[in-house]
Formats: sequence, C-alpha cells, structure tokens
Amino acid sequence: MSQTQNPETIPFVDLVAQYHRYKGELDAAIQSILESASYIGGPANARFEKAFAEYCGAKYAIGVGNGTDALYLILRTLGVGPGDEAIVPANTFIATAEAVTLTGAKVVFVDVREEDALLDPTKLEAAITPRTKVILPVHLYGQLADMKAILAIAEKHGVVVVEDSAQAHGAEEHGKRAGSFGRATGFSFYPGKNLGAYGDGGGVVTNDAVLADKVRRLANHGRAEKFGHEIPGVNSRLDGLQGAILEVKLRHLDTWANERRAAAKRYTAMLADVPGVKGFEVRSEKAHVFHLYVVRVADREGLKTHLASRNIQSGIHYPQALHLLPAYADLGYAKGSFPIAERLAGEILSLPIFPEITEAQQRRVVDAIREWQTKGGAR
Ligand SMILES: *Cc1c(COP(=O)(O)O)cnc(C)c1O
Repeated sequence: MSQTQNPETIPFVDLVAQYHRYKGELDAAIQSILESASYIGGPANARFEKAFAEYCGAKYAIGVGNGTDALYLILRTLGVGPGDEAIVPANTFIATAEAVTLTGAKVVFVDVREEDALLDPTKLEAAITPRTKVILPVHLYGQLADMKAILAIAEKHGVVVVEDSAQAHGAEEHGKRAGSFGRATGFSFYPGKNLGAYGDGGGVVTNDAVLADKVRRLANHGRAEKFGHEIPGVNSRLDGLQGAILEVKLRHLDTWANERRAAAKRYTAMLADVPGVKGFEVRSEKAHVFHLYVVRVADREGLKTHLASRNIQSGIHYPQALHLLPAYADLGYAKGSFPIAERLAGEILSLPIFPEITEAQQRRVVDAIREWQTKGGAR
C-alpha cells in the first residue's frame, strides 16, 4: 500500500491524497484517542458502529478485526461447521472462501455471470445440496450481486444468505443498501477499501439482535463481561484509533461514492471508441460504488506492461479463479469447472480509480491504452 514518490506515476489508489484532503478532521480524531487511551473499543468505536449501522439501513454493526473475521464470525454464530457446505462465487478475493474453510465447512464454488462478474443465480440451484447452510454472494468490484434472485432461491431451499460487502459500502438497490439484504453482512475496512481504516478493520452488520450479540461476544474471547467467558471465542476487535478514523471517514463516504461513479462514467465514455477493451455492465448508477473499475482485454498482460511503462499502475482482481488456486486444490475441481470465472481471470484489468482521481489522470490512462491499441496490442 506504500505510495510512490514519482510525481509522474498515476497510482492505483491514492490514500495520501485522501489523508491531506481531511487532515484536520483525521488528526483531531487520532489525537482524541491518544488523549483518552481508548485503544480498544471505546466511545468513538461505539459511535462509529451506530452510525455505520444507520448508514447501511440495518439495526446493528459490530466492529471486528478485519473483513475475513467478520465473515468467519457470522458463519460461526450461524453454527456453520464441519459437515456443512457454503456456496461462494468462483471469482472473488480468497477471503470469502477462507471464512468458510476456517469454520471447518466445505466451500462449494459457483460460476459468475459474463456481463457483470457477479454470482450467477441461474447456477445456484444445481450447487445446493441437503448440506448447504449458507450462500455468500459477493458484491464484487462495488456492484451489488443480484440479491432479489439469490434471496428467492435461498428462501425456497431454506438456506441463509450472508453478504460479502467488503467492496461495496453504500451500494444501493430498491432503496436498500449493501448490508441490509442478507441475514448478516461482512464488511472490510482494509485501507484500500472504499471505507478504509489506517490498518486492518472489519464490521458485521445485521438486523438480528441475537446474532449481533453472539458475534460481539465471540469476537471478544466469548464473553460479555470481563471474566464471564461463555464460549471459547477469538480476539477480533476493532482498535479505538480505527473506529475514530472510520467515524470521520464515514461522513464523507457518499461524496466519495459519487466521485467514484463520476470517474467510472468518464472512463466508460473515454473508452467507448477504443476497440478490444470492454467494461462490465452496470445495473444502475446507485447499485455500484466502483471500488474497482475493471475492463476486459484479450492480451491483459501486454496492456498491463504497457501501462507500467507509462508510469500507470493497474491491478488484477483476481488473476486466478479460486477453485484453481493451490489453496483449494484439495476440493478437486478440474480446469473448465467454471468457464466464465476462468476466462475472466485471464482478461480482467483494474484501472486506477479513487475519489480524488482527476480527469487529466484518466485521460492519460486512456491515451496510453489507445497508444497500445494502435500499435496492435488489442489484437
Ligand atoms: C478485502 C476483502 C475481504 C477481506 O477483507 P480483509 O479485511 O482483508 O480481511 C473479503 N472479501 C472481499 C471480496 C474483499 O475484497
């Protein structure tokens, strides 16, 4: 996550620019924690949890150590464990699957849709067995998965839906936001996420009072009181510093989402006449918060190398479908099991996007893509 010193470089994400934009507020929040020694939990954390639950349109939010733990703690609380199965899209960050693996349950992958790289609801039913406990749709790149279709199938089969909203803080559809569709939702506040702390952080959001209470205890050594350990839990708490920083940043999250949407719109317009480079479908303006702006291109490595030669950073989310990673080799999925996720993994490239990105920076990115394309790069 370190920032480059070369002023010519267009960074993939510019967290230093964001810090300077809100330096006064952020410094004051950090100072308040140092002056009050509320390093773990504390009043700023409690205020942030309340504000974040409200932001998501849900009743409860619990700050935890990171986004992976958020999902793991939800699954543990739901009683997911050995002998159970949980459905995860084949194209996501490995953390979604890891949260399942940590419980001892088995990961079952499902392919994604060609048009938006999101979990394909039409392929869900074939993956559901009597052992299926949970479906974990991922709002990948910042766009909400097809929750209406997924919830309908889950309900029909009596399966719980847990959202992975690590990339989609504030994404909204039918008047509901990420974090208010499923039984519970895991958020990440990793620094580079749309709402990012200055270290690791995560959140569990839910309307279920019992689940919220259990997650809070499980994340704090299985206790509600100092030595009243009711169950063996874990230590996964949000730092007071992170809570204070997130409380400040949450106030600006909608502004950033709109700036990301505007930047995405500019990219889409600028790339419209560049052959061989295409984006994903956007269902509606509000449903997408553009954590990432991802394009598809046949010679992805060629374009990535060319951009790097022009001092433009880019990313790949993700270079390998999960079922083909060494980490999940033991599940026995063959190549070709999920053809769309596999094809996308070889073609996707994430262009620089962050709230502060300028039109001039985007123009440079697109000019570089065009330069590569006219040299024959797209063929
Ligand atoms: C970042 C991320 C996570 C995990 O978050 P951490 O805070 O890094 O543990 C989970 N799922 C997805 C889709 C993510 O992008």
